[in-house]
Amino acid sequence: MPVNLPLITLAQEHNEKIAIATNEGAFTYRDLLHTSSQIATHLLKNTADLQEQRVAFLIPPGFEYVATQWGIWRAGGIAVPLCISHPKPELDYVITNSGASIIVAHPNYEQILRAIATEKNLRFILTSDTLPNSVNPLPDVDITRRALILYTSGTTGKPKGVVTTHQNIQAQVTSLIAAWEWTASDRILHILPLHHIHGIINVLTCALWAGAECHMLSKFDAEVVWNRISQGDFTLFMAVPTIYVKLIAAWENATKERQKSMTAGCEKMRLMVSGSAALPVQVLEKWRSISSHFLLERYGMTEIGMALSNSLHAQRYSGYVGQPLPQVEVRLVDESGELVPPGTPGEIQVKGPTVFLEYWQNPQATAKAFQNGWFCTGDLAVVENGNYRILGRISVDIIKTGGYKVSALEIEEVLRTHPDIQECAVVGVTDPEWGERVCAALVLQPQRQLTLESFRIWAKEQLAVYKIPTRILTVAELPRNAMGKVTKPSVIELFR
Ligand code: ATP
Ligand code: MG
Repeated sequence: MPVNLPLITLAQEHNEKIAIATNEGAFTYRDLLHTSSQIATHLLKNTADLQEQRVAFLIPPGFEYVATQWGIWRAGGIAVPLCISHPKPELDYVITNSGASIIVAHPNYEQILRAIATEKNLRFILTSDTLPNSVNPLPDVDITRRALILYTSGTTGKPKGVVTTHQNIQAQVTSLIAAWEWTASDRILHILPLHHIHGIINVLTCALWAGAECHMLSKFDAEVVWNRISQGDFTLFMAVPTIYVKLIAAWENATKERQKSMTAGCEKMRLMVSGSAALPVQVLEKWRSISSHFLLERYGMTEIGMALSNSLHAQRYSGYVGQPLPQVEVRLVDESGELVPPGTPGEIQVKGPTVFLEYWQNPQATAKAFQNGWFCTGDLAVVENGNYRILGRISVDIIKTGGYKVSALEIEEVLRTHPDIQECAVVGVTDPEWGERVCAALVLQPQRQLTLESFRIWAKEQLAVYKIPTRILTVAELPRNAMGKVTKPSVIELFR
């Protein structure tokens, strides 16, 4: 008997159940097992085991994407998913950095990827290639092997290649399945990018591990998402805050009658989740009034999977990300590495089987990221009434100004309550007098104007004086990356 990955063994139990549903139809677990074994056989043309060779793949969300990912795993390779919205230089960066020896591409991306494969002399496979009819015996893949390289979002610099093993993935997935009580009866609407942990692990792999149905849209479109939600046949939904903002805008533009069916579709779900960036309180409140769901906010990162989550059943508090998830140890420490008491901010450090193995071919960065076996997240948080509150990234969100340390996220939360401000990003800009100056980039409501003077008069009523931005800049939109996260280094550039 071959040794299978747990995901494969579990899938064999669900055989005739639907695994993936797309515009093209529904695919069962049996389909997924069969096609992924054909892809694995195809990948293993000249060898019995890929032995952790990296296979980069660029495929739109759907059955082919998942079958390819599973095929790479079953052939003993490391899956390197590429981002469908990345231009050639960024694709090139990930392919080169991961040292991929094989590229698998959907025909939509043939031109751009074949060029890279030819330049670098890599094996090039199209998803439209004919797959072998007979399936070869597949290698035994031990769960301690490397499985995946995901690149971080690139919010603070060049994306880093994060290597996780099958065992890490197993821990990340089973932790969330336990906490959020996934079952084989769940049906999730999957609308997130498939090159990022949120879409791959929290949604796709959790669903397939649980034997649930994963309904995939080829791309995000607020109207299409609402159409699907209105049909009322999903139990789960997960998204990032910017997606909830877009869904709220579409809801507000809908007729009363349509709004009713949109709301009814949400009410049929058992859980709606937000994460990957801070969820503004106004978004949470607005979503609550639309959907009657108090969004479950969780905190995690590519390197550690999910670490903190609001409770599924107990009360949730807006602005808080709850408590450590199963299998995850979390602590908060000060600059000298000492534990901080509740109420005092400290860096989040994480330990446990969910934590990644290494940054790809970057032992220095890996060594620097750990302190006595604890992974240092670089994020600051505080525990209040037993719940964690995220204060932001120490490198860009914690502003040191005139001897104070202030959280950009807290200031942003206040600025968003200004009637003329639609969106904002607060940053610290180096300043000879203050160390850093608090500056705010603002997206105003349509047809509004705001002077620094009137803004500061308003802000004095809301914020301690040292937290009030001394420079503001009105912009048409905030710089964001493919995950919809505001890239603070680019915001700082705006003030230089
Ligand atoms: P890079 O590491 O390349 O700069 P990134 O950190 O944005 O990019 P990810 O791994 O996608 O890459 O994101 C993890 C980060 O997202 C966390 O370190 C944290 O700063 C932020 N984050 C995730 N969830 C939350 C949340 N609920 N509230 C606030 N911040 C969050
Ligand atoms: Mg990061």
